[in-house]
Amino acid sequence: MLGQMQNRPLLIADLIDFAERFHGDGEIVSRRVEGDIHRYTYADAAKRARQVAHALDRLDIPEGNRVGTLAWNGYRHFELYYGVSGSGRVLHTINPRLHPEQVAWIINHAEDEALCFDLTFLPIIKAIHAHCPGVKRWIALCNGSALPADSGIPNLLAYEAWIAGEPDWYTWPALDENAAACLCYTSGTTGNPKGVLYSHRSTVLHAYGAAMPDVMGLSARDAVLPVVPMFHVNAWGIPYIGAAVGCKLVFPGPALDGKSVYELIEAEGVTLAAGVPTVWQMLLGHLQQHQLRFSTLERTIIGGSACPPAMIRAFKDDYGVTVLHAWGMTEMSPLGTLCTLKKKHLSLSPEEQLKILCTQGRPVFGVDLKIVDESGNALPHDGVAQGELLVRGPWIVSSYFKGEGGDPLVNGWFPTGDVATINSEGYLHITDRSKDVIKSGGEWISSIDVENIAMAHPAVAMAACIGMKHPKWDERPIVVVVKKPGTDVSKEELLAFYQGKLSKWQIPDDAVFVDAIPLGATGKMQKVKLREQLAGYVLPTA
Ligand code: ADP
Repeated sequence: MLGQMQNRPLLIADLIDFAERFHGDGEIVSRRVEGDIHRYTYADAAKRARQVAHALDRLDIPEGNRVGTLAWNGYRHFELYYGVSGSGRVLHTINPRLHPEQVAWIINHAEDEALCFDLTFLPIIKAIHAHCPGVKRWIALCNGSALPADSGIPNLLAYEAWIAGEPDWYTWPALDENAAACLCYTSGTTGNPKGVLYSHRSTVLHAYGAAMPDVMGLSARDAVLPVVPMFHVNAWGIPYIGAAVGCKLVFPGPALDGKSVYELIEAEGVTLAAGVPTVWQMLLGHLQQHQLRFSTLERTIIGGSACPPAMIRAFKDDYGVTVLHAWGMTEMSPLGTLCTLKKKHLSLSPEEQLKILCTQGRPVFGVDLKIVDESGNALPHDGVAQGELLVRGPWIVSSYFKGEGGDPLVNGWFPTGDVATINSEGYLHITDRSKDVIKSGGEWISSIDVENIAMAHPAVAMAACIGMKHPKWDERPIVVVVKKPGTDVSKEELLAFYQGKLSKWQIPDDAVFVDAIPLGATGKMQKVKLREQLAGYVLPTA
């Protein structure tokens, strides 16, 4: 027997309609590429999203075809999120930090028919437009007067002129909730990037899940600053969650340095900010240097790479800000787990609580997790057994765009490539990427553990642990460190700092100091590049 409830599809356009009707005066504030601050409301955004939908109709882009964006976090990008997907096209957000050749490759692979870009990225567009014959229109996110003359880019339009004459009413199409809505490519550290194609249903369900109290816990009383880019896994879904809950949205545009982020947090009364650890490193550095405090910030969501415990501690002890450590990936829309305490943990000592808060937390309802051994056998959730982490759920990839890479699933589960433990309370602890874990004498050493300890040293700004070939032990860890400006630490002091914090055999064999550790397009350390940088390095113990 079937249930007798209405079968309304879950659609992205309904989010912005809802926002307009029930918190239409909710604020959206953006630092623009032009440098100034722009303010308007969800109601204004909804109107302009509908103008975008009309403008796309006029370009004759059929339902299901792709519209690319190369843009910072800002109100025009927000309008494209809704205007493109709401009208049935697929929003393809592109990471501008990729090499231009890779950007062109992705545009061609996605078969983008129009490409909307912030003027910051004009040099990229100039370099690639001739190699992207499928793009019918290049749309600069600016006023007509700001459109560069003599750019040499054919079919170039200014966004404001493009939508200006369009009506601000529109009947959103009655789409199938399983229709494609957004396309994001994985960073492709090995091989070509692969496209993950989110549906309306997966996006709306992810927004419901991520908004819950023990997840992001966003509300109409929050002012939320997504520092995590809208070109990277949809800013962790915040543009959709915002429309659903009516929080104030604060978009930082291109200014992601500590000073600019701090000023925006203070000026706009931000209560929750979200981003990767490298961004918060810059923010904390700025606060420390200028002896500043936050007046409104309560929580920061940190994910994308492991958040060092020293950072969680600094936010809490020095600034009274709770870090919500989150884990996920492009293939998961991205949210998998997020760390909050349970009631029974509230009576624990701050030290014990911190231990829990340093894990990647508990799964969001909708995400199922398991860990398996090398033969695929499920391992116990006892906080000790570590194995490869597999996931399944309605906002997790089932296959890549155009079937690239074959079937990624193993008996219906997606292998994440991460190694983890899960304890009896459901808390996930990521030990490593499986390709980064160091195999020494038949045992595994977590590169994240080694890095976290170095990060707790006052002279260390960034640390990467990599395994080096060893004739006897197979691999041995070394730690590669960037020092904080104006501080010093010797190799011997740093290695001594590990005593008592790790078992003897887990302590790195060497510490190497470098000026910088290469970061990828999503702010993660690039260990493959780092290895190339260290070519010729010989382990002192080999
Ligand atoms: P995202 O696009 O969200 O950064 P990617 O797909 O680029 O995701 O990378 C996902 C990978 O990043 C995960 O599989 C994991 O290895 C790593 N990662 C993300 N969050 C964390 C975290 N909190 N702790 C440790 N590793 C993390």
